[in-house]
Amino acid sequence: MSITPKTTTFTDRHIGVTTPQDLERMLGELGYDDLDALVDAAVPADIRAADALDLPAALSEQGVLEELRRLADQNVLRTQMIGQGFSDTITPPIILRKVLENPAWYTAYTPYQPEISQGRLEALLNFQTMVSDLTALPIANASLLDESSAAAEAVLLMRRGNKKKGDAKTVVDQNLFPQTIAVIRGRAEALGFEVEVADLSAGLPEGDISGIVLQQPGNDGLVADHSEVIAAAKDRGALVTVVADLLSLTLITPPGEQGADISVGSSQRFGVPLFFGGPHAAFMAIRKGLERSLPGRLVGVSADDAGTPAYRLALQTREQHIRREKATSNICTAQALLAITASMYAVYHGPSGLRAIAERTHAHARTIAAALGAAGEAVRHESFFDTVVVSVPGRADEVLARAEEAGINFRRIDADTVGISTDEKTTDAVVSTVVGVFGAGDPDPASPGDLAFDAALTRESEYLSHPIFNSIRSETQMLRYLRRMSGRDLALDRTMIPLGSCTMKLNSTAEMESISWPEFAGIHPYVPEHQSRGWRTLIADLEARLVEITGYAGISLQPNAGSQGEYAGLLAIRGYHEANGDAERDVCLIPASAHGTNAASAVLAGMRVIVVSNADDGTIDLADLDAKIEANAGRISAIMITYPSTYGLYDADVREVCERVHAAGGQVYIDGANMNALVGLAKPGEFGGDVSHLNLHKTFAIPHGGGGPGVGPVAVAEHLLPFLPGDPVTAADSGAYTARDGVPVVSTLFGSAGVLPISWAYIAMLGADGLTQATKTALLSANYLAARLRDHFPILFTGRGGLVAHECILDLRELTQRTGVTAEDVAKRLIDFGFHAPTLAFPVAGTLMVEPTESEDLGEIERFIEAMVAIRAEIEQVAAGDFTLETSPLRLAPHTAAAVVSSDWDRAYSVEQGAFPVPRLRVDKYFPPVGRIDGAAGDRNLVCSCPPPEAFEPAADAMDGADR
Ligand SMILES: *Cc1c(COP(=O)(O)O)cnc(C)c1O
Repeated sequence: MSITPKTTTFTDRHIGVTTPQDLERMLGELGYDDLDALVDAAVPADIRAADALDLPAALSEQGVLEELRRLADQNVLRTQMIGQGFSDTITPPIILRKVLENPAWYTAYTPYQPEISQGRLEALLNFQTMVSDLTALPIANASLLDESSAAAEAVLLMRRGNKKKGDAKTVVDQNLFPQTIAVIRGRAEALGFEVEVADLSAGLPEGDISGIVLQQPGNDGLVADHSEVIAAAKDRGALVTVVADLLSLTLITPPGEQGADISVGSSQRFGVPLFFGGPHAAFMAIRKGLERSLPGRLVGVSADDAGTPAYRLALQTREQHIRREKATSNICTAQALLAITASMYAVYHGPSGLRAIAERTHAHARTIAAALGAAGEAVRHESFFDTVVVSVPGRADEVLARAEEAGINFRRIDADTVGISTDEKTTDAVVSTVVGVFGAGDPDPASPGDLAFDAALTRESEYLSHPIFNSIRSETQMLRYLRRMSGRDLALDRTMIPLGSCTMKLNSTAEMESISWPEFAGIHPYVPEHQSRGWRTLIADLEARLVEITGYAGISLQPNAGSQGEYAGLLAIRGYHEANGDAERDVCLIPASAHGTNAASAVLAGMRVIVVSNADDGTIDLADLDAKIEANAGRISAIMITYPSTYGLYDADVREVCERVHAAGGQVYIDGANMNALVGLAKPGEFGGDVSHLNLHKTFAIPHGGGGPGVGPVAVAEHLLPFLPGDPVTAADSGAYTARDGVPVVSTLFGSAGVLPISWAYIAMLGADGLTQATKTALLSANYLAARLRDHFPILFTGRGGLVAHECILDLRELTQRTGVTAEDVAKRLIDFGFHAPTLAFPVAGTLMVEPTESEDLGEIERFIEAMVAIRAEIEQVAAGDFTLETSPLRLAPHTAAAVVSSDWDRAYSVEQGAFPVPRLRVDKYFPPVGRIDGAAGDRNLVCSCPPPEAFEPAADAMDGADR
């Protein structure tokens, strides 16, 4: 007898349900003979793709790493002195390995469930404290997407925060980075307000001004005293934003002390690799009074039900989930993992370490400036931090070429000017090489501690005095701090995260591995094209494969979150209508079921949102659609639909909806966040879409990072190609960031390029068959869950054949009415079973949306079912009067270790029911560090920086008391 060896493919490892027995059992439960029969029943025939995906054959894990190595080797690693908002930095190895490369951090979800997120919330609070201290502004968020879009958000915040009428203009100093000016301009064009670029060192221009934007240090490296222009702006009733370099603020008078209202910038140089332009965490700090208009996530301090201080996201009512088109921004996924990395860098170095890095960086720049000056070169400014700009009339290209030959990249500002930026990695040897490029001899090193700028600009105030930045010095301490923080959280490395709409699937190690290779991570976004061939090949490849998967004509990878893809896609639609002379088309139809970012993005793109109702069965109400189209005849710009819908349904009449909107002259935007139910089965570009964004951090395996990074590529049909975001290639070649034909850029270059190898590897390893199998399995698992839970919790919507798509909504409203137990109680009780909650209250209040994804095995799915069934039994105990709602394990969930080992346990249920409601928990038990958190209290009394250690003492006393 011969045994045919079966090689395990990556598909077998990515997909959880692989054994024929499991498959049979699941299909049997659903009453189908094979997987294809189930898929045929669930997915409408008229949207099915005719052919299988045309993709290269699947590679093994080893094969993909070899291929990625080949691509990485096509990039040329040079000493990066280009600057322009991106500085090389050293990621401390412990942070690289224990945070950036650690699934306990990178596979976590956004901390909406604060009880299981205390570790990352503390890290993000450290980030806020760090930014607030360095900018000298009292409130900072965590985080924004990139420096340029953060500056654009600041402009919008100044307009909201200023009582002036809408026609007051925004004035931007000409000494901002060109990419920042380009992104601000794009936002202003969409919203129809005026932006004037002026030389603010010559004073304020005439006219009514809502806000001004300055940059410190400037685009040309100048460290300027802004106090006068800031005072003048305030006299004129304008708000002031300063785009600042965080590292420089350890030495330079911070924006808050100069009178600025807002400061924004990038935290990249705090240990986050260049990543060919992103992902990096941007920051925004504000003065008091603007907090309710602040965009992005804000971590605040509150308390749990035992009075223990606890962290949570604060002021959520500003955000798109709740406020939709009236939200402060469209930002949903931000840059949590990178903000955490930057905050840990500050914890690791402490204030004196950061200051030493800044002084060294500054000293190297001064050495270069002095040596070049002595050699007769025209150094532009005497007051600078890390960037020395040199006039080299007609010689810029020649100087750049010589520098490159010597292994260094300078910045080409124009044909007559070059910029040289130092950073944490700059050494004496690098400095010698730099001056050698100009033919100058060995320089006299400047002494660290001397400063090249005025005494008035020298920072006197303290920063990072909180103990967290001053108590962790040894690597052992750091190692344990990182472990302690990650241990407080539930991420995918411990449990299924069945969050509907978020697609928390496997982020495999082979997919992740290459992103920190220096040949990828160490490339500056503005290197010459011939130094980034590997990157460009990988990006072109990924683009082509995503185009094949979606059925569109082209795609831009620039948007660094789904929300930014929406914005870019809607701008493409807007540009198209304008080019056709249809500028009056400004109505965006959005179904009531839509994700909050849809409405917020439409507003940012200058559109009016009109809501279309959903019918009782969850589909779009066609009669209401017709009515809204008719009432806005000639004004319809677009409809935004999610497919399958956020109700977990393949609407059978999607083609009909698309046709009616097209007939009315509108464009169809299909939100592709749910592509995990379509890949390999149907293509939005073929069944009616004109444009879609994808969430590579959902469907295409980029980890969620505890709330970012993300990539939200925008894909378009042929006729919208000319309106994709500004062409980054042109930008890199010219050094100036000019958008093509007035098409706005939405972020920097290729956005979050650094994480693209993950999606590239995912597609390469699964191939056409694996991708399609993943989709089918996602459908199977969701339908199996729905079928098994249906008798315990009604499934809110089902489509053809009583089936759902890749997720399902459990409706608790009737149970809530009968017993008082809420969906939130269930979400919190799941923590006691070791599970992360499903999506709570979206898209329907009072429900839970469950998405198992294809990566969960049947055992884990059964454990989840077991937990939900046990919880349902507890709900019946409330109904039966075994305990009241207030004294039930549901309302008192989650249970901390402190609560269940207390010697005065006097609850209406046993300790065992509280802590070990199912037997398996006796061996593997996660205890949340805090109990149920009072969110409202935290909002009433807003604290957004690290509380003093004394704040934690009462709880510690109570523990001591219990001991004795
Ligand atoms: C996640 C999601 C978005 C927003 O994507 P982000 O990357 O978080 O900005 C938009 N629409 C739907 C349906 C989503 O699930």
